Amino acid sequence: MKIIFIGPQGSGKGTQASLLAKKLNIPHISTGDLLRNAKGQLKQEIDSYINKGDLLPDELMLKILKQRISESDCKKGFILDGFPRNLKQVELLNSITDIDKIILIHISDKEAIKRISGRVNCEKCKANYNLLTSPKPKNPKICDKCGGRLIQRADDNEQAVKKRLSIYHKETEPILDYYEDKFLTINGEQSIDEIKEDINELI
Ligand code: AMP
Repeated sequence: MKIIFIGPQGSGKGTQASLLAKKLNIPHISTGDLLRNAKGQLKQEIDSYINKGDLLPDELMLKILKQRISESDCKKGFILDGFPRNLKQVELLNSITDIDKIILIHISDKEAIKRISGRVNCEKCKANYNLLTSPKPKNPKICDKCGGRLIQRADDNEQAVKKRLSIYHKETEPILDYYEDKFLTINGEQSIDEIKEDINELI
């Protein structure tokens, strides 16, 4: 099964994509994580886009994604989180694979900004936390799971977040018109478990 998760920053799509991927035993491909973990000569170029909150050029993004989905663990399917982000990327995706389901997790901009400003993750094991919502770490600076240091992403500052949300409305939301009735909408302003249940019911 090939699934796309769409939603604004902070909607929890990464968390839900990861839970569903475990349930279906297929990989969760977050293009943001893929780019943040990139190594080698492209690293500097990639970081220059990410740190400003800008999107990477579509062709470059596709090249990186195409390589990832050609790996053997993607044979049974995968969950895409963060791609496609605009209509051009939908077109590029159509040229390399078919998609079975699209899940939209909806939250307001106000909620998105609140959630992102509290978002931190572990430098070492990458576990995600939120200092304002949930899951809250016991100590705001230390990972509950491995004791690593909790840090904020460089693009989770207010200026970059606002830019990323405006790109989401202008460029990503029109994708939904393209997929029309193929996408399922979930209310993202619920608890992680409630959202998970809604998704499991629909899948
Ligand atoms: P995310 O973790 O999904 O918020 O992505 C973080 C950053 O990675 C974005 O602000 C972009 O700079 C870059 N990025 C992630 N996915 C894409 C994509 N599909 N197209 C272009 N840039 C992307």
